[in-house]
Amino acid sequence: MDKGYLLHEGKAKRVYTLEDTEGEDGFDPKEHLLVEFKDSISAFDGVKVDEMPEKGVLNNKISSIIYTFLEEQDVSTHFVKKLNSKEMLVKRVDIIPLEVVIRNIVSGSLIKRLGFKEGTILKYPVVELYYKNDSLSDPMINEYHIKNLEIATEEEVEAVTKKALEINELLVPYFNERDLLLVDYKLEFGRDSDENIILADEISPDSCRLWDRETYKILDKDRFRKDMGEVLEGYSEILQRISGGEQ
Ligand code: UDP
Repeated sequence: MDKGYLLHEGKAKRVYTLEDTEGEDGFDPKEHLLVEFKDSISAFDGVKVDEMPEKGVLNNKISSIIYTFLEEQDVSTHFVKKLNSKEMLVKRVDIIPLEVVIRNIVSGSLIKRLGFKEGTILKYPVVELYYKNDSLSDPMINEYHIKNLEIATEEEVEAVTKKALEINELLVPYFNERDLLLVDYKLEFGRDSDENIILADEISPDSCRLWDRETYKILDKDRFRKDMGEVLEGYSEILQRISGGEQ
């Protein structure tokens, strides 16, 4: 499976097309893309950045394990397979420019904005939608804004919200059984070639808050945001727990 050209470079990933030859595995190169996880880490809209060797390898492993679990649970995703240490093969989708944040435990903005107390377990999961737009700093939006921006239809917003909550129902116990609390996280969805809405992007400690179930020790990118050190040790701990020690 050979890389074609660089289609998109984000803060933590590069997306490539595939060489326009029928892959030996029979994957149509027009319908698939190759995603490479980078070692860069960033926070606060790219204001704080660093390089962390092996972060890409860890995130590729972690995201692949979680997507494999979700596929086994009949969730439609863009994930096809992990290709090598830093790359995965995915279905080509048209990304809906929405960041779907799901919150199970209070942290971050819920404290500042609504006065909740850090660490409170929410009675009902909270879903928030943000407009994926760097120049506007990803503002929070609702279905009325989305309709006017014409980035998704009403039905699509409903579908995305329903899918996010279904995924949450699977992921909360999944992490719990592995002694991890899924505090909050961000999902992205895309439209495949048949206009089906499927889960896309990654699920990794870059996009999730994950705490140790007993001690509430932070194991995710908040270690970087808050200058706590031992960032990749946290990521490795997450990988260890979800892979059952087999990597
Ligand atoms: N998140 C992300 N990418 C973003 C924004 C948020 O992965 O561009 C994740 C983040 O890692 C966290 C959750 O979504 O797990 C909530 O993030 P947010 O920035 O909204 O948190 P808060 O404002 O509460 O600190």
